[in-house]
Amino acid sequence: MDTSLALQKTKKHLRESGLKLTPQREATLLVLLENEKDHLSAEEVYFLVKKKSPEIGLATVYRTLEILTDLKIVDKVSFNDGLARYDLRKEGAQHFHHHLLCLECGSIEEVEEDLLGSVEQIIEDNYHFLVKDHRLTFHGVCKVCQAKATE
Ligand SMILES: [Zn+2]
Ligand SMILES: [Zn+2]
Repeated sequence: MDTSLALQKTKKHLRESGLKLTPQREATLLVLLENEKDHLSAEEVYFLVKKKSPEIGLATVYRTLEILTDLKIVDKVSFNDGLARYDLRKEGAQHFHHHLLCLECGSIEEVEEDLLGSVEQIIEDNYHFLVKDHRLTFHGVCKVCQAKATE
């Protein structure tokens, strides 16, 4: 989806939740949209936002990220380094996408397909636990690193 359309939708979402999209919030959101494929930490978001809005403070960026997380516009994830990272939820996604984390180069690939329907059914049947969402990260070696290993 193009960035301006995504921004419009999120604006609407914020308005419906009774929140104003201040210029600082908009700048933060824009950075997330422009780096959709990345998994930025709060500091990284702050660094990028600051380039466009030098007056913004880290606390404002943190606060905005928390608001966007509460509204399920972004998801908080963490990988091997334990840092909280922010990940835009895909439009219309029922579940959080999975991640493939390469242990060699640290790259992260996203898997959009849910694939977990039958697993969730087993959890619900055997553990009487109502599954609402999941976090799944596969640890392994990416295609590029596999090719390097055989060179
Ligand atoms: Zn992701
Ligand atoms: Zn790799």
